[in-house]
Amino acid sequence: MSKALTTERMKLDIRTMQDDTLAPWSHRHQWKNGTTVLLRFKRREKRATIEITVPGKEVHMTAVELGTTAQYFGGSRAWWKCPCCHARVGVLYWSWRWQCRKCAELVHPSTRQSESSLSYGQVNRVRRKLGWGGGLLSPMAGRKKGMHRATYNRLIQELAEVSAAAAGAGDAVFERLKKRMTGMGTPTTKVS
Ligand SMILES: [Zn+2]
Repeated sequence: MSKALTTERMKLDIRTMQDDTLAPWSHRHQWKNGTTVLLRFKRREKRATIEITVPGKEVHMTAVELGTTAQYFGGSRAWWKCPCCHARVGVLYWSWRWQCRKCAELVHPSTRQSESSLSYGQVNRVRRKLGWGGGLLSPMAGRKKGMHRATYNRLIQELAEVSAAAAGAGDAVFERLKKRMTGMGTPTTKVS
């Protein structure tokens, strides 16, 4: 039996949602098929509820735990904890309940560039701007001569984000990257 595609499911990508405040907030989203969700985030309690209303069906409520990781220049980023396997993920898919891609047994479309190979392209683009060679785990060469520190810091932050997306949060590669990125940039005080 062939697996369903990620593109055939409704998804909630936490990376596209507000993540810089610990205050409770809620958000309503509607898909073209008429399905609506009401999200209620409680970052301080590290949990969220997702209330989904599929036309003609009962309202389905899911409580989801949130994981957090520190950001390179302060603050923290929230992740879903899959209600099924508790893995830390960026995206939950609706397959009559909210699950991560693996639990929902979904595959990325192979005919198109998958999300992760798109992210690899972005990693290489940022690395080239830094004057570094391509490759997620290739050596990090530091700030090249003549590059402003503010530019360097901005690119390092951008690299951290696209690398995280490419590696996939919770992944061993992601953990290795996080260790390497820590201390690569310093908050800017002056522009040289
Ligand atoms: Zn899962």
